[in-house]
Amino acid sequence: MSASTPKIVYRFKDGVYINLTNRCPNLCTFCIKTKWHLDFHGNNLNLEGQEPSAQAVVNALEKKLAQSPFKEVVFCGYGEPTLRLDVLLFTAHVLRGWRAQAKYPPFTIRLNTNGLGNLIHHRNIVPDLHAAVDEINVSVNAATPEEWRKLVCPAPGYEDGFWAVWDFLHDCVEAGFEKVVASCVDGVGADTDAVEKKALQMGATFYLRSFLDGND
Ligand code: SF4
Repeated sequence: MSASTPKIVYRFKDGVYINLTNRCPNLCTFCIKTKWHLDFHGNNLNLEGQEPSAQAVVNALEKKLAQSPFKEVVFCGYGEPTLRLDVLLFTAHVLRGWRAQAKYPPFTIRLNTNGLGNLIHHRNIVPDLHAAVDEINVSVNAATPEEWRKLVCPAPGYEDGFWAVWDFLHDCVEAGFEKVVASCVDGVGADTDAVEKKALQMGATFYLRSFLDGND
């Protein structure tokens, strides 16, 4: 386990990743956050319950973005970013402002989500997201409710989340994001062909995630 200071913002490949929370309504059988003790390639992502304020995220981003070139900024981390929707939207709008001012070379803004945002907030959050981020990656993970429940082990209240996830994906496609990706983890028991077919029929791009891709 890493004993270093928890990272609010960290680098991975060409991206700068934002770690808003460690909370999540799911407990996926394939989640690497417990297996890797909340460490991601040497970055300690364990916020220890101290979720960053919007200002802390913006300050951390300014430092990290100045360090080296990047192509995208991604809301991801070891938790579900839409649980902190206000901070997510505020930060994304700040990023869009910086982009409009050409403060940094061109970059995209992406959200990685488990697709439960509408269920979490009891409303359709897709229009708010569309006004803030360019690309969205929804971890749909399964083609049937039974398979979904078995793989993601939802918390009480989220047992029927399968339909909410696919409705969310559909709403994102309809909203016209620059890119909408439906992802599924390979080798953990999901019928990946069926997930791909369903995602493509809906108009999303499909991405088969390898078991330990983590934040890709
Ligand atoms: S949705 Fe993501 S963060 Fe949540 S348990 Fe599953 S893999 Fe982990």
